[in-house]
Amino acid sequence: MQPDCIFCKIVAGTIPCEKVYEDEEILSFQDIHPAAPVHVLVIPKRHIASLDDLTEEDRPLAGLLLERTTSIASWLGLHRTGYRTIINTGAHGGQEVPHLHLHILGGKRIGPMVAQ
Ligand code: AMP
Ligand code: ZN
Repeated sequence: MQPDCIFCKIVAGTIPCEKVYEDEEILSFQDIHPAAPVHVLVIPKRHIASLDDLTEEDRPLAGLLLERTTSIASWLGLHRTGYRTIINTGAHGGQEVPHLHLHILGGKRIGPMVAQ
């Protein structure tokens, strides 16, 4: 737990969230500013600042994160129509919250992969 991390506070329950899924290692919740009809975040409960901060020891967790993401997308009814997953990393990647998270976006065509 990183005391000043907003997502760690969500994991700890000190900041509320609209929970979508939770297990021992993973939490998923609604994005507070949805960019699509469906926009949820999937995070490891343990504080990892970004994709770039994953280590070899995190391999099982990284696999679990992807596995849970596909399950959550399926539960949300997105598996037939498809969906976009995004991981922003660092300043140029547009990462605003420095706690690793995967965006799941769906419910409509998400559009071009990168804004021009
Ligand atoms: P990123 O730019 O990839 O770091 O994305 C951070 C995302 O976290 C943005 O889409 C925000 O809308 C979302 N966000 C920030 N604070 C909260 C919060 N308290 N609850 C849910 N989502 C949040
Ligand atoms: Zn954190």
